[in-house]
Amino acid sequence: MDRARAWVQAIAAAVAKNKDLLTQLDSAIGDADHGTNMDRGFSAATAALADSAPETVGAVLVTTGTTLISVVGGASGPLYGSAFRALGKALDTPVADTEQFAVALAAGLQSVQKLGAATPGDKTMIDAFTPALAAFRLAADSGGDFAAAAHAAADAAEEGMRATTPMQARKGRASYLGARSVGHQDPGATSTALIFRALADTVAP
Ligand code: ADP
Ligand code: MG
Repeated sequence: MDRARAWVQAIAAAVAKNKDLLTQLDSAIGDADHGTNMDRGFSAATAALADSAPETVGAVLVTTGTTLISVVGGASGPLYGSAFRALGKALDTPVADTEQFAVALAAGLQSVQKLGAATPGDKTMIDAFTPALAAFRLAADSGGDFAAAAHAAADAAEEGMRATTPMQARKGRASYLGARSVGHQDPGATSTALIFRALADTVAP
């Protein structure tokens, strides 16, 4: 539970630090609000957690997701909100082990895909989330501890984020640009990489 709260705080700090970068990326292929959206959402989530006394990992993550849905207007608010809510619903436990977290991450990704209908290669947050989940699952299955799995996931998310640059967007605002979306890193894949790096830094800096 404490680790879940520390993770959300670490995301809030990373998003605040990279707010301008996220907005710059979104100004190239979107409407220049991704940094503001993420910063507003995660500061509100940290504030909501400070006012509550959650007893499970799930409660922390469901509160985070609900807050993101209610305060973030863009596409990313409902998408990340549903991901954190799904993650939380799968973790009704005071401490999550590696296997439980792998299962929860899969539920999180599934809810983003159910809501946004994006698949890998569409140039979205899915392109960072999918390889991150695969790396976490692989590390968990090969007996890696939580820290090893989280670090593998963060590395894979960053690789997936970089791989969005040559893609043409097929979902979200960036898809309106057609071929002009090629050559720019996706803002949502970038924030997803920050979220996984924050997890790795929280469990073992
Ligand atoms: P908006 O596009 O409404 O301005 P944001 O700028 O906050 O919202 O978020 C944009 C990001 O949301 C994109 O970079 C992309 O990664 C992600 N995104 C947009 N549509 C989808 C979708 N259908 N599925 C998954 N991710 C999406
Ligand atoms: Mg935007």
